[in-house]
Amino acid sequence: MSLSQLAKSIAESPTLSLNEQARLLREKGEDVIHLGAGEPKNKAPINAILTSAARLNTGDVKYTPTDGIPSLKKAIIRYTEENYDRVIAPENVLVSAGAKQVLFNLLYTLVNPQDEVIVLAPYWVSYPEMIRMVYGVPVIVTPEDGGFHPRMQDIEKSVSSYTKAIIVNSPNNPSGVMYSEKFIGEIVAFCERKGIYLIMDDIYHKLLFDGKTPISAYRFTTKDIESTKVISINGISKLYGMTGFRIGWIVAPKQIIDVMINVQGQTVSCTSVVLQAAAEGALTGLQSAVDALRLMLENNRNVMMQELNGFQGVKVTKPDGTFYCLPDFRAYNKDSVDLCKFLLKKALVVTVPGKEFGMEGHLRLSYATTVKDIKKGVERIKWALDPSSPNEIYIGERKMVRDWL
Ligand code: PMP
Repeated sequence: MSLSQLAKSIAESPTLSLNEQARLLREKGEDVIHLGAGEPKNKAPINAILTSAARLNTGDVKYTPTDGIPSLKKAIIRYTEENYDRVIAPENVLVSAGAKQVLFNLLYTLVNPQDEVIVLAPYWVSYPEMIRMVYGVPVIVTPEDGGFHPRMQDIEKSVSSYTKAIIVNSPNNPSGVMYSEKFIGEIVAFCERKGIYLIMDDIYHKLLFDGKTPISAYRFTTKDIESTKVISINGISKLYGMTGFRIGWIVAPKQIIDVMINVQGQTVSCTSVVLQAAAEGALTGLQSAVDALRLMLENNRNVMMQELNGFQGVKVTKPDGTFYCLPDFRAYNKDSVDLCKFLLKKALVVTVPGKEFGMEGHLRLSYATTVKDIKKGVERIKWALDPSSPNEIYIGERKMVRDWL
């Protein structure tokens, strides 16, 4: 069939495809443990439900302004003032269907064919594919010290005259690592000096542990919102565990937003007014929902660390935030795709291969699940891989015997 070469070359989202595989296995009655999830199990905050239900009840569900309803934009402006210490105008904000669509729209708006965008490994799976979708070139920068924290010297070496932007995601999906204040300060100064856009994907910025607090990149620039190279992306998916509501937003100079509005106007028009009302409800309601989610995730992180630390040969960096960690399984298998398939088949545990995040030999494990599933999941992985663990295990009603070690 004759299809676009570019479209055909875009990889399937591995996380969404694994969700589907897990769903199908569960439908067949298999006792699958999902350590691949990119969403917490909490319910949406009550105020979000009430505001969206009220909107739906009016029956008045029509197009909204392309950039979002004014009352939601007002809530985003307040959020930006409170969390980023920046006073911005409605012209600096655009609301879209999730941070994912915001980012795609932004890349479409910034990138000319052959422009390069720097992506810091380990990275979120969608960055390189989205950059390629707008005919840009993803330039992956991997810390040469083998760690998960980016280093300025590696980034500086990768910058060329084609570099248009750098994407920073801290705390980071998939490692959970939060980048240091020193690094954020240096990269802001570097981008402002070089005229490179700094795209801050702040989608997890409040899901931090051990008393850590978000770092606003705006703190490190003296430029005003219209002339800074700092662009921030955020949303309700992770902050409130409202992934299915599909609302995200961007804060950027007006000149960028103006073009993004045209792009959005010619593609999706706007996002649903019902879901925008939900986002407004979440942002203006009691923020205790965020604290409750953060505390639950911190506890889950502790359980996951405890379980993995007792796993011979597995090395793990303790996450500072998010709901992921990226343990190193190279002692068992250097091929993470192979390992992920093996664990799903033999132990019925969903993991995500590190290869997809630019870190081969690792697996991304999510602790946005129950404590019981974290414990059971790691126990099963141990059973499948570690000869020193018991030879038999029960999966559901079935007694499984390890006969491959
Ligand atoms: N950025 C990162 C780093 C993410 O992990 C995700 C979701 N997995 C997104 C953006 C997209 O979030 P949204 O649901 O708002 O599209």
